Amino acid sequence: MGKTSKDKRDVYYRLAKEQGWRARSAFKLLQVDEEFNLFEGVKRAVDLCAAPGSWSQVLSQKLSQNIGEGEEPAKIVAVDLQAMAPLSGVIQLQGDITKVSTAEKIISYFEGEMADIVVCDGAPDVTGLHDMDEYIQAQLLLAALNITTHVLRTGGTFVAKIFRGKDITLLYAQLKIFFKTVTCSKPRSSRNSSIEAFIVCQDYCPPEGYQPTMANPLLDLSYGGNNELAGPNREIVPFIACGDLSGYDSDKTYPLTAATESPYVSLEPTQSPISPPYKTAINLKRQNFYNKLV
Ligand code: SAM
Repeated sequence: MGKTSKDKRDVYYRLAKEQGWRARSAFKLLQVDEEFNLFEGVKRAVDLCAAPGSWSQVLSQKLSQNIGEGEEPAKIVAVDLQAMAPLSGVIQLQGDITKVSTAEKIISYFEGEMADIVVCDGAPDVTGLHDMDEYIQAQLLLAALNITTHVLRTGGTFVAKIFRGKDITLLYAQLKIFFKTVTCSKPRSSRNSSIEAFIVCQDYCPPEGYQPTMANPLLDLSYGGNNELAGPNREIVPFIACGDLSGYDSDKTYPLTAATESPYVSLEPTQSPISPPYKTAINLKRQNFYNKLV
């Protein structure tokens, strides 16, 4: 696909480049924030599954507004499987959030002081096998929740990508154990055609006596019946669409001049991936090409 057609097909992709965000995902967090005012008073944050870093950019911008003169700078810890280009003021960790060792490293940054918010935009490499994709997504969310129970202060907020698949009621029920308010939100920049949504869990309040432990990473999705919880175990979570309704619709194609008053120029991404998985494929292809030549 040419640069122009991607710019045309995806207005948020184009806007991200124009506004200096590393990914269009920035708009999802910004639109959820418009609805929930996520960052009021927030000074310490964890960004799980953070690469290429647009949510960390949003965090960095929003949290810096909460820091008074002479105060310690905001603390932001960003984690991803992929290497991420540096971002000023953001501590970066490369690791798998489902691994205990990664969780322990994150926790070690919060010795003595807890995070005010944990966000997770984790997504597996989608296979197209819906059950598998939803399952892996749920595992990521539960791994993120587990890390959250170690680092989030009481009253804090957890925001995470969720796939609204058939196991969703179990996830809602698990989240409701830890948070007083759980809301499912769909920002306008997230395509309607995608089952992606963002769960906003507010007012962290673990059950009395709950001891966070990495030995029990909550990764069990096996429950009986037809995968539907019933009675008091079934949590009905409100669903909220967020983002300005008169704003851009992520499922629509706009003329290339729609987002700007100046003439259209296709911009390079704000930050190209520094070590994309496709690099190996390109190298292998090159290697094959040279092997055929000799
Ligand atoms: N929020 C990011 C931003 O705004 O730039 C975009 C995140 S991207 C949609 C999803 C990320 O999840 C990918 O960078 C991927 O490497 C990461 N990821 C997937 N599984 C992971 C895991 N087990 N541990 C850590 N990161 C993971």
